[in-house]
Amino acid sequence: MAQGLPDVIAAGTPGPAPAEPVATVEGLTRRFGDRTVLDGIDLTIERGEFVALLGRSGSGKSTLLRALAGLDRDTEFTEEGGLTVRGTTAVAFQEPRLVPWKRVRANVALGLDVPEPRAAAEKALEEVGLSERGGAWPLTLSGGEAQRASLARALVREPRLFLLDEPFSALDALTRITMHRLVLDLWERHGPGILLVTHDVDEALLLADRVLVLDGGRIAHESRVTVPRPRHRDNPELTALRDVLLDRLGVTPT
Ligand code: ADP
Ligand code: MG
Repeated sequence: MAQGLPDVIAAGTPGPAPAEPVATVEGLTRRFGDRTVLDGIDLTIERGEFVALLGRSGSGKSTLLRALAGLDRDTEFTEEGGLTVRGTTAVAFQEPRLVPWKRVRANVALGLDVPEPRAAAEKALEEVGLSERGGAWPLTLSGGEAQRASLARALVREPRLFLLDEPFSALDALTRITMHRLVLDLWERHGPGILLVTHDVDEALLLADRVLVLDGGRIAHESRVTVPRPRHRDNPELTALRDVLLDRLGVTPT
């Protein structure tokens, strides 16, 4: 019997073989005026699963992410539908959104409900390689450092569901590669379910277990990526998937 078995067997082991979903969306619709941006979305994110969400600009990626984050009160659901998220959620946006008049460490600890918020913040900063900058002011950070601080602020909350909305798109190419490694490393160590919104097909293929394409208000396509990590972009399986995804996004593969 499953009863009495410890609940921690699957914890910290990212990838498929989930115990239960961390997020379930059924029949989600979002309208702005008479425009239907999301039209009956069904989506499940399994425990420890890394999901990437692709879609053209304006396809509704951020709208879906905001709904999952509980930031949108005006989403509608079909009668049997709804949104269930199990456990803490953390969000990271394209702009790090640090409070400029608080030092980095205080930003990470902000609103944190643990006995030793400062120590927890220090530990999270260490994990993202930002220990030395804890006492710095946000405006003195580089783009990459600010995004690390934003990851630390999310991580310190030990989220079961981690939502990332194009977090690397404002960074230069080299910093982005470093950030990809960091996110994979944090994911492997902490094992949250991740939904990464991106418009970058390669980023999705390098990182995710499953890549979704949002189009016409629906999840129009889904690809599983089973290539072991670390992945190389010229892996033939990834090359083939890239063509499929670009085609799905309406871009002619070269
Ligand atoms: P994406 O993140 O995929 O680029 P968004 O989810 O931000 O797209 O937006 C999807 C569509 O919904 C866009 O056409 C956008 O203009 C519209 N939209 C988003 N938020 C609002 C809002 N608060 N009011 C009106 N329209 C909005
Ligand atoms: Mg967006």
